[in-house]
Amino acid sequence: MMIDLRSDTVTRPTPGMREAMLDAPVGDDVWGDDPSVAALEAILAERAGYPSALFFPSGTQSNLAALMSHCGRGDEFIAGQYSHIYRDEGGGAAVLGGIQPQPIEQDANGCLPLDKVEAAVKGEDIHHARTRLIALENTFRGKVLSQDHVERLVNFAAEHGLATHLDGARLFNACVETGQPLSALCTGFDSVSVCFSKGLGAPVGSLLMGGEAFIAQARRWRKTLGGGMRQAGILAAGCRYALEHQVERLADDHRHARLLAEGLSQIDEVEVLACDTNMVFIEIPECHREELKIFLQMQGVLIAVSTRLRLVTHLDVREDDIRYVIRCIGDYFAGQRV
Ligand SMILES: *Cc1c(COP(=O)(O)O)cnc(C)c1O
Repeated sequence: MMIDLRSDTVTRPTPGMREAMLDAPVGDDVWGDDPSVAALEAILAERAGYPSALFFPSGTQSNLAALMSHCGRGDEFIAGQYSHIYRDEGGGAAVLGGIQPQPIEQDANGCLPLDKVEAAVKGEDIHHARTRLIALENTFRGKVLSQDHVERLVNFAAEHGLATHLDGARLFNACVETGQPLSALCTGFDSVSVCFSKGLGAPVGSLLMGGEAFIAQARRWRKTLGGGMRQAGILAAGCRYALEHQVERLADDHRHARLLAEGLSQIDEVEVLACDTNMVFIEIPECHREELKIFLQMQGVLIAVSTRLRLVTHLDVREDDIRYVIRCIGDYFAGQRV
């Protein structure tokens, strides 16, 4: 078995999760008949403090349905330049929703500077798209957003009549890191999307939460986008199992990431740029990037390589694996020095 640090999406369902999925009562969820989906939606809506929730096959589709439910053709949403919803979802809002993105350069903490947001909000004028929504992301590159920042932006949006959406693909990581309940980190947002297929370890599934009319609209868009699933309770049961058994253990991933960052910082050629929740970003001399990746692969370790290397801890990475990876990377550079 490889030690796979490319992403926390690579987790495989645990035996307990597989059992829960096998035993799930199911029905046709497009007809509203699936008790396992309905239960998951109700449990999460309650826990996050929203009237309604809706199960999606992916976070991308959940975010897109949210944008299409908040905004119409010729509307615009404000989001971070490096946010997933703007940069990593195939431009879906523009392609499929007729919604224009207005990206904002983020600061080092992933925050959207309020003055830049304010300057980007367009007044009523036939020349402009209509600014409708601000979208935030928590965690962003592993970083937990400061609640101060969130509050300021949510208040700003309210004052300007803008809706707010939170891409909380890894919001449970933020909960575990801060000790805050899910509802506290959702406060003020009109809608929130969370993923179960990342650190929580489910094979498939995201949930969108919001008000009743909003979720009814999102249900229409989900069908249009091809996300209406039939006996989806099998998947929802995996997510429910994750919610009940695999949230608190995210703390292990965060501890493992710190351990990894500490170990790697002892190696001269490695610069640790950031370590937040379950992600470690490092820089190494460019000439070593591809070679290190190949070396590690031969040692049974997978990493994704771009300008900054991102190493992600998750359910299928144990403390021993972390020590082994540190040793392998140390060995690689020691071998280069002789
Ligand atoms: C993974 C992720 C999503 C959704 O991705 P899917 O692969 O479509 O589930 C959305 N936002 C962020 C920040 C993510 O990391």
